[in-house]
Amino acid sequence: MRASPGNLHLNNGLHKAMKPSIDSARELEKRLKKRSGSARSRRRRIAFIVSSTLAETTVRIVELAVALVVTLFLFTPVVLWQLITAVPAGKAVFSKRVVYGISAKPFTILRFAGLSGRWADLPLFLELFTGRLALAGTALKESEAASPNAEQAYINMVKPGIISLWDIRRSSKIAHEGIQAIEWEYIFRKHPFYDLMLVLRALPAMLYTETIAEPSPVFHLLGLDIDNITMEEAIAMMQADIALKKQSSIFFVNPDCLNKTISDKEYRSVLKNSDHIFPDGVGLIVAGKLMQSPLRENINGTDMLPFLCRMAAAQGHSIFLLGGKPGVAQQAAEAIHRDFGVMIAGTADGYFNRETENEQVISSINNSGAAILLVAFGAPLQEKWISRHRSELQPGILMGVGGLFDFYSGNISRAPRWIREIGFEWVYRILQEPARMWRRYVIGNPLFLYRVMKWKLFTGINNR
Ligand code: UDP
Repeated sequence: MRASPGNLHLNNGLHKAMKPSIDSARELEKRLKKRSGSARSRRRRIAFIVSSTLAETTVRIVELAVALVVTLFLFTPVVLWQLITAVPAGKAVFSKRVVYGISAKPFTILRFAGLSGRWADLPLFLELFTGRLALAGTALKESEAASPNAEQAYINMVKPGIISLWDIRRSSKIAHEGIQAIEWEYIFRKHPFYDLMLVLRALPAMLYTETIAEPSPVFHLLGLDIDNITMEEAIAMMQADIALKKQSSIFFVNPDCLNKTISDKEYRSVLKNSDHIFPDGVGLIVAGKLMQSPLRENINGTDMLPFLCRMAAAQGHSIFLLGGKPGVAQQAAEAIHRDFGVMIAGTADGYFNRETENEQVISSINNSGAAILLVAFGAPLQEKWISRHRSELQPGILMGVGGLFDFYSGNISRAPRWIREIGFEWVYRILQEPARMWRRYVIGNPLFLYRVMKWKLFTGINNR
């Protein structure tokens, strides 16, 4: 097509209009070139190189110092002990395993053959001398994907560590997002200071590390049968119950609840007759350790809610929120609907008259068609209420959730994840509400551990 004069005019106009911008781009390029070559930017680049080299050297020195201390004071005495005990009995001191290092290069590491848990892994510290492992890094992999995808290949570029964010998340027993998401989170945050914090966080996390490969599916404690399952299994079980139209009462117990069961016989009998009891909090994890019946996961209502809501949204089930001060359940419902897209069948506060208004509350729950009812009156009020009205209630899942709506409505903030992972959420709760919480935790936690020890000594119950 021939260009019309109009077009020509336009083209000329465009050309003219673009000329100044081309000129200014050239100008900008010149300025940038000048600036990048300027003494100030060169100084900046040199400062960056010097500071990162300094940080890397410091990390390396710290790693070598840790390796030296561990080798002298832990590794060597254990080797000597193993030589004295294992060798005369004809047993091997070390076992070998292949792991994958930086760029997925395989290498062999040693473990103490006759030991378990963290003690068996003491020889890993020798790898700090060789530089094949870092003190803090990505997770140590025992198998390598045959053809790693681009994401995995990127993760493989970061040196694995004796301590990793994955190990901490896994041993904290809090439901997590899976290894690849956690590895990415680590890589994005990686910094010498973050690594130092990771090493410090690993110390309390070691307390909860698994030593028995196959824990029992039921944790018998203080006369109660607590489900020892993972979050994933718990959600699958609830989904199946709803599908089968089987009504289930589900309660969470923490040390405070178990202390209450000693004096409150009704609460105790309600728990005994419930369908599922889940272990809530680090106190139960420690009890599992003491009873040599390790818990698979810390399953509490607040951590469960996102998983429960996602399942409900996917299956088209709706949730009714009952409890909390007026307005709180409604605020929590809005947040839950916004975050997880789940249908909210209805809400009601927890300050109705439990002598005269039960019928009204129960019919609004039943008329809402909810498949899941969350009751937040605090323990043991919520458990007793659910148990008393169970036969009148129609939802398939009846769950007691304590202060959950206070957290989700934003009225009370929850401890940051790293505090929960090191098992110190209770300290955070005391600082938030000292008047109400100090007795629960400062007196309640040691009392609970004393009761666990007494139970273990006098019943000698075999948890396996
Ligand atoms: N609550 C209620 N009705 C009552 C008493 C308490 O709805 O008659 C609510 C209260 O507003 C709070 C929750 O129950 O939201 C109790 O929270 P808490 O953290 O004490 O629960 P716990 O951890 O003791 O189970």
